[in-house]
Amino acid sequence: MASNMRKLITEDIQGFLKGKHPEQALQETLRYVQSIIETMRDPLVVLDDSLKVISANQSFYNIFLVSPDDAEGSLIYELNDGQWDIPKLRELLEEILPKNTSFNDFEIDHDFPVIGRRVMLLNARRIYSEGHKTQRILLGIEDITERKHMEQEVAASEVRYRRLFETAQDGILILDAKTAQIEDVNPFLVDMLGFSQQELLGKKLWEIGPVKDIEASQKAFKELRDSEYIRYEDLPLETREGKQIQVEFVSNVYPVNGRKVIQCNIRDVTERKKLDQLKDEFIGMVSHELSSPLTIITGSLNTILSEEEQLSRDEMHHLLQNAALSADTLSQLLGNLLELSRAQADRLILHVEPIRIDIVAKNAVERIKEQYSTHKFFIDFPEVLAPINADPLRIERILYNLLDNARKYSPKGSEIRVFAREEKGRLIIGVSDQGAGILKSDQVLIFKPFERLKPAGFEGAKGAGLGLLVCRRLVEVHGGQIWVESTPGQGSTFFFSLPLSRKV
Ligand code: ADP
Repeated sequence: MASNMRKLITEDIQGFLKGKHPEQALQETLRYVQSIIETMRDPLVVLDDSLKVISANQSFYNIFLVSPDDAEGSLIYELNDGQWDIPKLRELLEEILPKNTSFNDFEIDHDFPVIGRRVMLLNARRIYSEGHKTQRILLGIEDITERKHMEQEVAASEVRYRRLFETAQDGILILDAKTAQIEDVNPFLVDMLGFSQQELLGKKLWEIGPVKDIEASQKAFKELRDSEYIRYEDLPLETREGKQIQVEFVSNVYPVNGRKVIQCNIRDVTERKKLDQLKDEFIGMVSHELSSPLTIITGSLNTILSEEEQLSRDEMHHLLQNAALSADTLSQLLGNLLELSRAQADRLILHVEPIRIDIVAKNAVERIKEQYSTHKFFIDFPEVLAPINADPLRIERILYNLLDNARKYSPKGSEIRVFAREEKGRLIIGVSDQGAGILKSDQVLIFKPFERLKPAGFEGAKGAGLGLLVCRRLVEVHGGQIWVESTPGQGSTFFFSLPLSRKV
């Protein structure tokens, strides 16, 4: 009992005794003690030396659903059909009187048949009455079921929080809101920045390597403390290896155990930013590629309409030819874009049928020859080639893209050859030119989206950097592969294979 309380009770009891008849003083003291016991929220029970219940407070009867009539005079173990018959409790109680001991905060977790599972702290004391030579046990019970439950909940939520923290795919920093010192850092951030936990913990935000602009960080920290929330779309950070990354930085302040902490969520958006930039460039490039043929078409047609009378037959033919060629270029570009968007959305459905590759190749070559008389085109196929199962329009598109590239990146008057051979269950088709060629290091790049190189001498060649990507997608859905063999300055050969055994 706290010493103040002891003092207060002593003073009260001394007050009762002062100048009163002993009987009256005793009655007043008893009433006083009784009212203390009855107002206690925790159950209290008094046992005699044979561990029978002499009395209990109201709280005991209420909580354990037992009536005073049933309880008083019964052995504690027998109460409510033996629900208190708990071996360890029995052992402790039986020790108290003979050994003159006591026990404190003995925790029992017991499933009571009537009131269900309870966790309790038991405290017991021996009370010896000199006058009556009787021994009693005072048993105080604290029901900590709810507290225990809450402790378990808190522990479980701590485990859940830890797991989230440890496995999050975003970097997380926890700072002390007063000092800006780093209190915790999750593994993802450690990986992102390349600094170890030890190097980060305890440091101030602006003392760590990745944050370069100290003044700006201090200002941001102050702003964060005032507004309790801050968000940056892209913040430059530097990793341990000196790599520049861009991060999205969201931070807020919240109280924990009476003090404020700052949580910063840090997401590496370098790739996303690059993609956004690529997308913008792509839109710019495609718009440009679409607008130049359109300008030619409208220009030619308007000239014909406004100057029809003055134009010679040849001039008129020339203008119409230009318009037709630009219309073809437009339709080729739109066709490629459509194929890509279908591939992207997994909607690239082939219309497969048995085809003869020599006929498909002839169609592609005829088309390009009609448009461009600048190069010498040859088809070099063996006499007999087995038909294959493929989508003829898609195969023609692949060949047209490769022929168009060969034309764009090789000198006028040079030869462009299409050939095919069967090899190990595959049909291999090639398009070779005598043009600029491609460096070994660029040979993988050119099949990637929007990658354009500007080979020396062919810088003006138009294109959106999509042709080879479309070829790759179309070849791959046919179950084949595409590759290039090239020597810079001596020309390139683009190959693609198609499985001969492809089922319809
Ligand atoms: P585009 O021709 O529209 O630029 P492609 O995807 O068809 O796009 O080609 C990508 C890049 O590959 C081209 O920009 C060019 O640098 C290179 N390339 C393609 N074909 C050839 C070729 N036959 N000879 C040399 N370079 C080529």
